[in-house]
Amino acid sequence: MIDVSGLTVVFGAGRKRMTAVSQVSFSVEARGGLALVGESGSGKSTVLRCLAGLENPASGTISLSGRSVGPRRSHEERRLVQMVFQDPFGSLHPRHTVDVTLRQAAIALGVPDREAAVRRAMDLARFPSNLRFRFPHEISGGQRQRVALARALVGSPKILLLDEPTSALDLTTQHELLVQLAELRRDAGLTYLLVTHDLAIAPMLCDQIAIMQQGKIVEEMMCSVLAGSGPKHPYAARLFQLAREAEFRAPTETLAGLPA
Ligand code: ADP
Ligand code: MG
Repeated sequence: MIDVSGLTVVFGAGRKRMTAVSQVSFSVEARGGLALVGESGSGKSTVLRCLAGLENPASGTISLSGRSVGPRRSHEERRLVQMVFQDPFGSLHPRHTVDVTLRQAAIALGVPDREAAVRRAMDLARFPSNLRFRFPHEISGGQRQRVALARALVGSPKILLLDEPTSALDLTTQHELLVQLAELRRDAGLTYLLVTHDLAIAPMLCDQIAIMQQGKIVEEMMCSVLAGSGPKHPYAARLFQLAREAEFRAPTETLAGLPA
C-alpha cells in the first residue's frame, strides 16, 4: 500500500541548508501498520508530510496503492491518504462547527453523498452526533481529536497518516483513543503510518517499527521484538529502555506483559 524509496528532503539554502530526511526507504502492506519512532527533530513529521503531498522531496519516490504520486494530487489521490495532526486545536478552524468542518472536507475531496459520508465518518471516529453543531472550544480535547479523525475519514481513505495523534491528550483519553484507533484499523481495513516519540504506543497500532535518528532510519523491526530481547541499534535500545521505564505511564497490551 505504501512504498517509499530513497526519500530525501532538504530545507533552506546556503549556510542554512539542512537535510531533514535522508535516503529513507520503507514499505507498508495493505491493512498493515508502521510506526516511525524517534526523538524530536529526527524528520518523522517531514516524512508524513511528503506522503500527504504537503512537502516537496529533493529526491526519492513515493508510491501509494501501487501508483507513483507527487505533491500535486487529484481528488482521488487525496481521498486515498489522509493525515491526522498532533494538535487538534491547531488543526481545527475555531469559528467552524464540527458540522461545517466535516462538510467542507467532503466538498474539498469531491465526495459524492456528503451527508452519508459525514455521518459514517463521525460514527467511525466515535464522535457523538449530538455534538455535531458545536464549536471546537465547546468540546473536550479527546472529542476534538475525534473530529480531526472524522475529517480524515470523510473521503474513505485507505491510508491514515497519524502524527502523534494522542500526545496532546491526558492519559486516560489517550489510552481510550489508542484502543479505538486500533479497532478502526482492523474494522475499516486501513493502513497506518504512525509517528510517535513514544515507543510504548507503537505496538498498540502497528506491527512494524522504524527507528529514526537525524533524518535516517537506523533500525527496522517487528513490534514482536519488543517482547523479546529488544532492538539492537544503541539508539533504538535506549528508546526501548525508556519505554520500559515509563511503562506505568502508558500501559499497552504488549508492553504490559514484559518481564520487569
Ligand atoms: P520530527 O517530526 O521528528 O520532530 P520534523 O520532521 O518536524 O521532525 O523536522 C525535522 C527537521 O527539519 C528539524 O530539524 C526541523 O527543524 C526541520 N524542519 C521541518 N520543517 C521545516 C521547514 N518547513 N523549514 C525548515 N526546517 C524545517
Ligand atoms: Mg513531528
